[in-house]
Amino acid sequence: MKNSKVSIAVVGSGYVGLVAAACFAEIGHHVTCVDNDEGKIATLRDGGVPIHEEYLPQLLDKHRGERIEFTSDLGSAARQAQLIFIAVGTPQGKTGSADLSYVDAVASEIARSIQDYTVIVEKSTVPVYTNEWIRRVIARNGVSPELFDVASNPEFLREGTAVADFLHADRIVVGADSDRARELMRQVYEPLTSGSYYRVAGAVPGPHHESAPVPLLETSTKAAELIKHASNAFLAMKISFINVVSNICEAVGADVEHVAQGMGTDKRIGPRFLNAGIGYGGSCFPKDVAACRYVAEQIGVDFNLLAEVEKINAEQKVRFFQKVRSALWTFRGKRIAALGLAFKGGTDDIRESPALDIIQHLLHEGCTISVYDPAAMERTADIIPASDNMHYVDDPYEAAKDADALLILTDWEEFRHLDLEKMRKAMRYPIVVDGRNMYEPSKMAEHGYTYLSVGREGTYQPRELLADRKIP
Ligand code: NAD
Repeated sequence: MKNSKVSIAVVGSGYVGLVAAACFAEIGHHVTCVDNDEGKIATLRDGGVPIHEEYLPQLLDKHRGERIEFTSDLGSAARQAQLIFIAVGTPQGKTGSADLSYVDAVASEIARSIQDYTVIVEKSTVPVYTNEWIRRVIARNGVSPELFDVASNPEFLREGTAVADFLHADRIVVGADSDRARELMRQVYEPLTSGSYYRVAGAVPGPHHESAPVPLLETSTKAAELIKHASNAFLAMKISFINVVSNICEAVGADVEHVAQGMGTDKRIGPRFLNAGIGYGGSCFPKDVAACRYVAEQIGVDFNLLAEVEKINAEQKVRFFQKVRSALWTFRGKRIAALGLAFKGGTDDIRESPALDIIQHLLHEGCTISVYDPAAMERTADIIPASDNMHYVDDPYEAAKDADALLILTDWEEFRHLDLEKMRKAMRYPIVVDGRNMYEPSKMAEHGYTYLSVGREGTYQPRELLADRKIP
């Protein structure tokens, strides 16, 4: 790799900040990772990794103490950095707007530390005009406009594949309004945009290589801010769209998987994010759709489409819950096996997870839950502690033991490969309600299950009385 090392501070060591910091170190830069959570910093210094992400432990081990260090002292990190990436949370506020108080706090503190020219980069997902606010906050603190620029560099990584996504991004978007800022940002990403990173021995594998590097898209700061919000809103819309189509499929007896395949093979549409299920969740889509809608409202643009997207998403969980009820009739005293807690497979992130919503509802109705998730049980136990009604178990078969029904709530890859015979024998009744369409209905029927999924006809075992009559 060309030696164009820059000195970077990343503020916020969560899913985005920590991955970005590890990847910046991996492509040759010196990085200081900042967080105001002292416990997290201590864990990171001691060699721990607070989140579940493929390749992250290896990258941190490789660069810890040399190219990457950890601190809770934002001031000193900011003084030494040429670029400061802000990667703190931007949760949903009461009105649906993004709560930018963490960004504001960080910007004020940065302002008190700047000595030489510094680029402050929005890595967090923020509404349009946030760059103007950051600029204003820093200027208010007496920093001369000559000494800083604000740029936007939205992050598109997906939890579960975050490191590979970062180092093999579809594109890197840099919004900057000055040549100085643009030039520094080009230097940061040069190993990826020139392709030099991909010829280094041990480079994280992915779709890009030396002769097909990552494209760089340079825009204004405002356009970059909008690209991120519009992208997430669009993807959420795609999910809600197929979910409504799945409801039509259920009503007319068509298979949504066939419909999605037929739609997705059209290059203009594409197959991804056309998976019918129990709705989107996670730390991004719900809040970003709400924030995007709020911004549109504030500037007088009618974007009611997004209100529909949210409504459909909420209804999808209710429909699933009703499906479980249709399989069980009553809930009180029923034993339910739940597979999955994370908002999607491959991560331990449970923020806004539809799985948690459904489990909490079932607990409220008096069910006993036995749950298994490969990575998210510890985090969930902080919110729903283990009790007589809530059991965290070590594998799917233990969860299935004596269950009246089993629910698949997260699309973990390992849930596609269950030993269906072993699981059926463990269950009290072989009823599976699959919120992620992970099995072929015909295969489940062959294995003796009553199987209900999303947007496809249910298959019922003969002993499921009256199954072919609709009971409301
Ligand atoms: P996170 O909650 O995992 O991490 C945020 C971190 O910031 C936490 O460790 C917190 O302690 C720290 N923090 C908060 N205030 C601070 C302060 N004043 N000083 C120092 N540290 C502080 O959040 P995340 O998932 O990494 O998301 C961060 C941003 O990136 C959000 O805007 C999010 O929308 C966006 N984003 C997230 C993803 C994703 O998949 N998680 C993807 C793209 C973009």
